[in-house]
Amino acid sequence: MAREQRSSGDLREGLVVKILVTGGAGFIGSNIARQLLARGDEVHILDDFSTGRREIIDEFRGSARTIEGDIRDLDACRAACKGMDAILHLAALGSVPRSMEDPVTTHAVNVTGSLNMLLMARECGVDRFVMASSSSVYGDTAVREKSEDLASAPLSPYASSKLAAESYTKVFKHAYGMNTVALRYFNVFGPYQDPQSQYAAVVPLFASALIAGSSPTIFGDGGQTRDFTYVDNVVSANLLALECPPESCGEAYNVACGQSVSVKELFEAMRQRLGGAAVAIEPRYEPPRKGDVRDSLASIAKVREGLRYEPLVSFEEGIARTVDWYVETTSATSQPR
Ligand code: NAD
Repeated sequence: MAREQRSSGDLREGLVVKILVTGGAGFIGSNIARQLLARGDEVHILDDFSTGRREIIDEFRGSARTIEGDIRDLDACRAACKGMDAILHLAALGSVPRSMEDPVTTHAVNVTGSLNMLLMARECGVDRFVMASSSSVYGDTAVREKSEDLASAPLSPYASSKLAAESYTKVFKHAYGMNTVALRYFNVFGPYQDPQSQYAAVVPLFASALIAGSSPTIFGDGGQTRDFTYVDNVVSANLLALECPPESCGEAYNVACGQSVSVKELFEAMRQRLGGAAVAIEPRYEPPRKGDVRDSLASIAKVREGLRYEPLVSFEEGIARTVDWYVETTSATSQPR
């Protein structure tokens, strides 16, 4: 159906109008908000700016409504949910190391905060709820390719918190009939991922070190593998989850590329894309970090079937776009944003 025909927030025909993005000032949430605005949706952002950045959403000023609030606060959740047609729930404290240091705060935000959002969505009659879960719920298993029917084996409080929030998300379909979906993202990377954070992810850390001409750190031997997923693929999965049929709801789906890449290969791809002096930079090695899994590769069979998802951007293309973005933003501002 044409976008201009969309009206009244009727989700049955895939007609979504008012969408709340929690965590919309963060890396993935802001990429989602940008695409929702581009296709003409009304976007509302709920964020407490604990890890999100105001400068990211400055570009949305005048086009998206921003509500500064904490998902641990039921009243803030209620105010944000009122009048919405759908919720994309991304607000959370990410990072395995952070959760190892402070599991209580990780639990409060990721589990209680998610339950608050589900409760207020239900109270406000918001039927469609898509939650950001994580590949970390699988932990280390002997099975190479992770499919959703594998038993979960979290290795960190972060992974446990995502599993608990995912479980609540699914239960709201089964107990209350809400159309909920949990998406298990696998190592997402792309523009607007913060290299400055104390808990920065590997791609922005490598990018900022290589651009500065210094050696990034690899924890472990670099042979650990990940299914690195360009952010546009995650955005696309969220948009599909907004409009999938009710019989596809109440489930968790992997969102990934289905491609196994080692951290050493990632480093190589990034320094080759930068070229010049970066090609001669060697990484420093440090002992593996506690809570990190050895190998992580997704089966994307279920999400292909349930959400009609296909990865749109390959790892190689995503790395090229991302490295170019860090180079551009570094030269424009002297610091990657
Ligand atoms: P991010 O830190 O950039 O974004 C999270 C956003 O949530 C931030 O804007 C932050 O300010 C906000 N937030 C945190 N606590 C809040 C609270 N109490 N109330 C309101 N807002 C709060 O992280 P991201 O990488 O964009 O991750 C988004 C989601 O995707 C998270 O749920 C994360 O667990 C999940 N995820 C990310 C990855 C990845 O590789 N980046 C992988 C798996 C899952």
